[in-house]
Amino acid sequence: MADLNTDIRSIKGIGEQRAKALNKLGIATLRDLISWFPRKYDDRRQARRIADLVPGESACVAAMIAAEPKVSHIRKGMDLVKVRAVDESGVLDITFFNQTWLKNQLIQGETYIFYGKAEGNLLRKTMASPIVEREGRGEFTGRIVPIYPLTAGVSQLILSRSIRQGLDACADILPDVLPDEVRQDHHLCRIGYAYENIHFPEDETALDLARRRLAFEELFFFTIGLQRLRNRRETVQVEPCGAVDMAEFYHALPFTLTDAQRRCVEEALTDMRSGQPMNRLCQGDVGSGKTMVAAACVYFCVKNGRQAALMAPTEILAQQHYNGLAPLLENLGIRCALLTGSTKAAVKRSIASQLASGEIDFAIGTHALITEGVEYADLGLVVTDEQHRFGVAQRAALAAKGQHPHTLVMSATPIPRTLALILYGDLDVSVIDQLPPGRQPIETYAVPGSYHPRVYNFIRKLVGEGRQAYIVCPMVEENDELPDERKAVTAYAQKLQAEVFPELKVAFVHGKMKAKEKDAVMAAFAAHETDILVSTTVIEVGVDVPNAAVMVIENAERFGLSQLHQLRGRVGRGKHQSYCILISDNQNEETKQRLKVMTKTADGFKIAEEDLRLRGPGDFFGERQHGLPGLKIADIGCDTQLLKEAQQAAEELLERDPDLRDHPAAAERVAELFAQASDTLN
Ligand code: ADP
Ligand code: MG
Repeated sequence: MADLNTDIRSIKGIGEQRAKALNKLGIATLRDLISWFPRKYDDRRQARRIADLVPGESACVAAMIAAEPKVSHIRKGMDLVKVRAVDESGVLDITFFNQTWLKNQLIQGETYIFYGKAEGNLLRKTMASPIVEREGRGEFTGRIVPIYPLTAGVSQLILSRSIRQGLDACADILPDVLPDEVRQDHHLCRIGYAYENIHFPEDETALDLARRRLAFEELFFFTIGLQRLRNRRETVQVEPCGAVDMAEFYHALPFTLTDAQRRCVEEALTDMRSGQPMNRLCQGDVGSGKTMVAAACVYFCVKNGRQAALMAPTEILAQQHYNGLAPLLENLGIRCALLTGSTKAAVKRSIASQLASGEIDFAIGTHALITEGVEYADLGLVVTDEQHRFGVAQRAALAAKGQHPHTLVMSATPIPRTLALILYGDLDVSVIDQLPPGRQPIETYAVPGSYHPRVYNFIRKLVGEGRQAYIVCPMVEENDELPDERKAVTAYAQKLQAEVFPELKVAFVHGKMKAKEKDAVMAAFAAHETDILVSTTVIEVGVDVPNAAVMVIENAERFGLSQLHQLRGRVGRGKHQSYCILISDNQNEETKQRLKVMTKTADGFKIAEEDLRLRGPGDFFGERQHGLPGLKIADIGCDTQLLKEAQQAAEELLERDPDLRDHPAAAERVAELFAQASDTLN
């Protein structure tokens, strides 16, 4: 087998059933499989004595089965295997749920390794459902064990065995796309060693070496891709936009733009008149009014006779932009359309043909805007909202739909410098450092779960006064599996409706819902047909319902500060005093500090700084959404030094070989990286 693109089915030891399970994780090829990196590692090298087990801590213990395992049937669907194990230091009582087959596998008098969380007290130690394996086997104990991100139906066991087989299948053929001189100059290990040890590290040193090599590689190719985009653009000349009387636009607005908004608009218009494509980032805290800055630019562009597109990261947000902007702009003679993944095929076709003919001036949508088959007559301006959800490659993909269109990137996230370098290294920056007048600061409280009754009463009171509430639903990770947001949200909403707020209207929304349903729920909430909206973080970005005055966030410890700030930004958008209640039972010092920051400040930039200080930049975008496609291992926050090195190496290589003619493998890797990034959106 010589190709990383081969289907996993052809790997020895991976049958149809296992392949199907792996497919669910998006693992289709050998390359996907070996690039499914662990999300963390457990050091299970040392076995402890039973007497040394600490309640609450996970550990390995080698112990002998002292008596026949006993099975008891608790109730339907719940069987218990109980077994007592011993070593020279003490006794450990172990229970397994619904694993009755273990009764015959655990043999009295034999020694096994158990890995699990110890419970009990000094006198009586217990363990529930530990991992168990025969002494000396060394698959899940006795070494540093990789822990993979999972989904239902795929276990750690399946993944780690499959990856083992995958690695064996390609041990000799893994191509090293990193130029050899770069690898040696930067003291990076070989590719085979890197893959082996990122999955099955011999020790910490080997893991560090592997991680360093793979992270470097990602950053290196990412930088090369960026640099090439930049080089291409710098040589580009476009026809300068002509002057437009903006007064008509400003008069049509229901309010006066703030000075900061005006300044951003001016900066953007100056770019568009310059004869070079605009590449501008408009950064402003939640609620600072970025949408109107975008609208002004769209107006300017369309009045110059060209088309504009605005891409939002979610359907809800695209819909909302459409609802907000279309009436305003249509009144000014601009023909608008909404194009998302859930737009009906026939409508989509008609919009596509009108975009191609130029009958539509302004398209608002999701990544549907950049899918194949959507062409523009003359795309002059591309606006992307809440940029960190996309990344450079998507921006490039939309820009590629026009002849060097101007691009405006809107972001509410204050970005640390290193991150900015990667995400927006090539952008000019405008900052909206002022909120529209009349905003009342949001009162923020951090409380423990025992406050639930009080929180519910508070919501009841506010709803009684005519306000609405958001509740971000608790979501607990179970058994290493990604939490099922659908179940969590539905169950919590039902419980609230039935037991807590029978007299109010509780609605819910989550990311797994069909876009249509989502929109309907959001529209009903915006129209005040419902009082309380239970949701996941799908409402995190951008949604605007001015009558919502309270945001309750359950399990607040799960979120990064910046994410909490974004969530909080969903309230306080109208004239009513608004509140944010952060609920957490987490006693962790760091959590407490973080939540305290939220209660003390409303300044997004300050919060971002604190976030970095307290958690390290890795968590900047929350755990699963760092929004940089292609970067699986590198942590652009923590790997600052490595990033610098990789950037330098990339520059040097491009100086020697600007078109990567002597490095075809590298060229291919870059192309792949950027192509993959836009694929993930389709
Ligand atoms: P964000 O920067 O978070 O995207 P939005 O553009 O959604 O903020 O604006 C937040 C709210 O403030 C919207 O309801 C918008 O209509 C309103 N708004 C924007 N600019 C002004 C302004 N200059 N004066 C008053 N209200 C404004
Ligand atoms: Mg916005």
